[in-house]
Amino acid sequence: METRTFEDVKKYVEWQSQGKCTVLSAKTEQHFNDLGVDVYVWNVKTDTDGDWWVVEGDNVPMNLYPQSAYYFGADEAYSFHMGLMQRMSRSQEDYNPEDFINGVTLGAEIAPQLFRKLKNIAALIDTAKEIEDFQSIGVQCRETLIELGNHLYNPMMAGNEDQPQASNFKRKCELFIKFYLRGSENSDYRNIIKKLTEATWDYANKITHSRSATYYEVSTCTTLCISLVGVYENILQKVFDPLSQYHCSECQSKKLSISGDDSDEDGIVQKLYLHCEECGATTQIAFEKNDENSPTYITGKVIK
Ligand SMILES: [Zn+2]
Repeated sequence: METRTFEDVKKYVEWQSQGKCTVLSAKTEQHFNDLGVDVYVWNVKTDTDGDWWVVEGDNVPMNLYPQSAYYFGADEAYSFHMGLMQRMSRSQEDYNPEDFINGVTLGAEIAPQLFRKLKNIAALIDTAKEIEDFQSIGVQCRETLIELGNHLYNPMMAGNEDQPQASNFKRKCELFIKFYLRGSENSDYRNIIKKLTEATWDYANKITHSRSATYYEVSTCTTLCISLVGVYENILQKVFDPLSQYHCSECQSKKLSISGDDSDEDGIVQKLYLHCEECGATTQIAFEKNDENSPTYITGKVIK
């Protein structure tokens, strides 16, 4: 195969955007050869449609990935693309939608109503051929995100602010993040999840109306959607896992188990004793009740 030029990449990106943007610059950012084929990742900047990674090479179909969403570097775009190609080249009967979801979410426990929807999407992607098939996957991704918003959101999260409309996914997520991920120690986590949430929603909506989406864009959309569900299930698990934030006060190990507790007359835990599997020390956590607007009713403090 001949080496692709700036003009090829430019033409491809502008075609993908249905002529709505102009490519300002496109440079090869990285060259890979670790799988025995030459693959190039291009860094492409457009005037109105953001920045993109374009992956192409010997026997590798050209495809683009939004830089703002999920693919922070040329490396990620490359790994994702090659993983996708491998998945596609496997025989059809090997493909199991459930395995795909578990792979993307690292096996996070997912609410059954969301898992069912994701499974439908992951199954559809395997047989989608026509533009209508791709658009309908976009629609289902969008519906799954709305369902995710409902799963996460509780009206008390709005506090004194207006309640979001039933299908306002972005706003529900925003309030959820604000509610559970407080404080400066969560600020990076908050930012990245907010970006991922907005990008996934916008991209699903784009696919719903796209006349030029191919298997690759739709697969990207599906993967983003599944990842996002996994990310939010992770946050819920973090919030409700009382031990994840503590470490041993002696050796800093996180291998802790509860060895005892003190409760008051109402059965509310006042103090927790954590046994360290590494050094055998006991770490004590004292709990105090938070004000009622706090996401967790109690805050634990290491006292020894
Ligand atoms: Zn220890």
